[in-house]
Amino acid sequence: MPKGKVTTVGKAALCWGLLISPCHLHGQETPSAALALYRQLRSVGISAATTHQIRDAALDREDIHISLQDGAIAFTEAVDGHVTGAFFQGEGEVLLIPPDRAERASLALFTAFPVLEEKFSTAYFRFDDDTARELAPALRPPEDPAAFVERWGAVAKSLSEIDALRLLAAFTNTPAGSQPARFLHARFGGARLGTFDIFLDAGLPEQISVAQAGYTGQGQLFYDVWLSSLMRSRRGEPPASAASQPIEAFVIPEYKLAARVLPPHEMQVDGTLTVRCRQDGLRTLVFELSRYLRVSRVTLAGEPVTFIQNEAVPGSELERRGNDLVTVLLPAPLQAGQDTQLKFNYGGSVMSEAGGGLMYVGARGIWYPNRGPAMTNFDLEFRYPKGWTLLATGVLTASATEGDEQVAHWRSSRPIPLAGFNLGQYVASQAHAGDTLVSTYGARGVEQNLARGAPPPPQQRPVWRRGYTLPTTVPPAAGAAPETHPAAVEQQAVAAINFLSQRLGSFPYPSLSLTQMPGSSSQGWPGLIFLSSYVFLPAGERPPVPPADLEYDRTLYDQLMTTHEVAHQWWGDGVLWKGYRDQWLMEALANYCALMQLEAADPERFRRTMERYRQHLLRKNPRGLSYSQAGAVTLGVRLSSSKFPDGYETVAYERGSWLMHMLRGLLGGDTEKSAAQFFDILRRLQQRFAGQVISTLDFQHALEEELPESLRFEGRKSLEWFFDSWVNGVAIPRMVVRDVRFSARSKGLVASGTLIQQEAGRDLVTSVPLYTHTATAPQPVFAGRIFADGEETSFRLAVPAGTKELLVDPYNTILRQ
Ligand SMILES: [Zn+2]
Repeated sequence: MPKGKVTTVGKAALCWGLLISPCHLHGQETPSAALALYRQLRSVGISAATTHQIRDAALDREDIHISLQDGAIAFTEAVDGHVTGAFFQGEGEVLLIPPDRAERASLALFTAFPVLEEKFSTAYFRFDDDTARELAPALRPPEDPAAFVERWGAVAKSLSEIDALRLLAAFTNTPAGSQPARFLHARFGGARLGTFDIFLDAGLPEQISVAQAGYTGQGQLFYDVWLSSLMRSRRGEPPASAASQPIEAFVIPEYKLAARVLPPHEMQVDGTLTVRCRQDGLRTLVFELSRYLRVSRVTLAGEPVTFIQNEAVPGSELERRGNDLVTVLLPAPLQAGQDTQLKFNYGGSVMSEAGGGLMYVGARGIWYPNRGPAMTNFDLEFRYPKGWTLLATGVLTASATEGDEQVAHWRSSRPIPLAGFNLGQYVASQAHAGDTLVSTYGARGVEQNLARGAPPPPQQRPVWRRGYTLPTTVPPAAGAAPETHPAAVEQQAVAAINFLSQRLGSFPYPSLSLTQMPGSSSQGWPGLIFLSSYVFLPAGERPPVPPADLEYDRTLYDQLMTTHEVAHQWWGDGVLWKGYRDQWLMEALANYCALMQLEAADPERFRRTMERYRQHLLRKNPRGLSYSQAGAVTLGVRLSSSKFPDGYETVAYERGSWLMHMLRGLLGGDTEKSAAQFFDILRRLQQRFAGQVISTLDFQHALEEELPESLRFEGRKSLEWFFDSWVNGVAIPRMVVRDVRFSARSKGLVASGTLIQQEAGRDLVTSVPLYTHTATAPQPVFAGRIFADGEETSFRLAVPAGTKELLVDPYNTILRQ
C-alpha cells in the first residue's frame, strides 16, 4: 500500500478538522479511481468471516497503550488489498500519560484525572499500517460471528466514514523515500467517560490527540480537545528540525479571485490558486471553505478534477468558524517545488445582511479555499451593482463602470494573511493619519436588532476569532434607530494610528478602511476593519448594561476596541501567529497596546480596566469552575470548550493582557519609562518578524535579548521561569511577606523575611518587586526584586534607613489575588 507523510489540514484546523460527517461527492462523468477508493473507504463494513475471539492482545503506539483483554473482534473488509479497521467488543483498557503539566491539567478538566486510564467495552479502530497482522497471534476461533455482525455491523459501517479522507490521503499521497505515516484512530465506548476518540497521526504538527463531543449547559456542542501533544519519539527534538517535523504539504503563494457580488447575500467566484507543493507525490489536497459556498467545478490546466466537499465535524473549531472542507483529488502526483494553477468555481449565500445598508463577508466562514491564515498575495476583482460601495483588503488599483455593474480591482501591497471585503450603502468620510489614508464608512443606521428593541443577535464568531466578544448585553429600549457618529470613530482610529505608528513603526499598509459591522464584536483584516456597530453609537444610545458593567462598556466601545483592532494591523496582520498555541500572543499584544494608549490618556481608567480583568479571571463560570481551570493561554482556541464556551476570549485577552503587563513591569513598574522601553522591544520585534510568523518561543527569545541581568533566575540568561510558570501556567497566586525583621548592619538597614506564594502550585516562580514604607517618603520606594520560588522563599534586602514596613508589589504589576 502506498504510504507517506502527509499534512492534510492547515495549521488552524489541526487534527480534528479532518473528522468529517456527511459529504457531497462531485467529479467527472466517470468517477476517478481515487473517488472510487474513497467511496469504498467510507462505507467499508465487517463480516462474519473476519470475526474472531481475541485474548490478551496489546497495541502500543508511541504514548498510547491499548489492551484488548477478552472479547470479540471483527476486521473490516479489505480495500485495495488492505485491512484498515476493526470493531471490538469485550473487556479492554487504554492508558495514556500526558507529557506535560498543561496537558495533564487539560485532561483533568474533562475527565477528573490527569492520566487517561479507562476501561472500555467497545472500540472501533482505523489504521493505515499492519495493525491487523499485529493482532493475529491473539486471535481465537469465533463463538457466534453472525450474532456479532448482526449487532455491530451497522455501527462499524457508519463509523468508517470518519477517517475515509485521511486514509484516502495515505493511499494516494506517495512521497518518495519518506517514512511511512502512522495513522491510528480509536473510538472507545467506556462506562465512565462515554464515547471518546484517540488519534495518532504522524503527519500532523501534534501527532497525538484525545477528544470528545460535549455540550454546554445551554446545549451548545463543542468537540472538546482533552489533549494534544507531540508523540514520544518526536519530543525533545529541536523545534526547527525540518527533517523530522512535518511541514505544510503545500502552500498557496498567490490568489486571483474574480467575484460577482449580488447583494444582499449571494456571490459567485472564479478563483485561481497557485499551489506550491513542498513534498513529492502529493495527490490529495485539502482546503477549508465556508459551508455556505458550493463548489461546482475544479479544473487543472482546463481539465476538470475530482473533488469532495465535506462537512466539518459538529462542534469542532472548524465548524464553529463556519467552514467545511474541500478535498481535491489530482489525476497525477505533484513534485516538490512544483507550482500548479488550480481553478475553483463556486458560489452561495456567504454574505450576511444587517439592515441599514450593511453587507459583509466573514461571519459565515471564509469565502475562498484556503488552509488557514498564511502570508499570501491577493489579486481581487469584484463586480457589483451600481449604488453600492465595496471595500476590500489591499489597494484599489482600478475601477470602472460596465453596464449596470461596477468593476473594481484590489491588490495586496505586500503578502497578507487573509483577504476580505464589505459592501454597503454608506456615509463615508476620510482623514489622514500621517501618510495613512483613513476612510470611515458608517451605515445610515444601525442593524435592525439595535434599532427595534429586539434582543441582540447571537454572537457571530469572527472568521479567525480575532474579535472582541462582549459577554453582557441586554435588549435595547424600543424606539427609532439611533444616529451613528462615524466622525468620532474616525478620530479614534487616527489617534490610534498616530499613537501606535510612533511606537511600533509605520502603519503596515497604505490605507485603512473602517466599516461598521453588526453585533458587539469586531474583526481586523489587513487594511480593513469591521468595527462593531456599538462603536459607531454614542454611549447613551447603546443597549443598556448592568451598572457594574457601565464603565467598562464605555471604555471598551469608546476607546479600547478601535485601538485593539488597529493594533491587530501590526499584530496578526503585519506579523502572523505561527500555530494555535501562539495565537494568544496576537490578542495579548493588540490588547495591551490598546491598553497602553488608554494608560497614556487616562492612567486611572487603565488601572480600573486591569483590575476588572483580574476580577473577571478570578470569578467562577456558571458551572462553578474557576477560569484558571480553563487552561494556559497557550492552549489557544482549545480554551473554548463545553466547560468554558468563552474560555479563549477570557483567558487569551484578559490573562494575556496581564502577562504583557507583567513583562512590562519587569522593566520597572507601571511607569512611563517602562511603557516606552516595552514599546521599543515591540518595535524591534515588528522589524524582525514583519511579513512572517512568530511563535511564543520566538517572543520569549526576543525578550531574553532585551531584559536586564537582574531578571535572570539562577543566573541563566533566560525567561524560562516566566514562560514555564506564567505563560504555560494558570496560577493566580496570593502573595504576602511574613516574619519581616529589620536589623542594622555596618552598611545600613537590612530587611529579612519570608515571601509566601499561596494557591500557586509548588513550582511557580515569580519576580516580585518589594517596596518600603518610610516615615519621610509619602510614596512607597522601590527596594528590590526577589524571586519567589515555590511556596516559601526567605530573603534579605538592603532597605533605606527609617523603613517601617515592606510592601509587596504596591503598584499591581503582578496578576495575583
Ligand atoms: Zn483581537
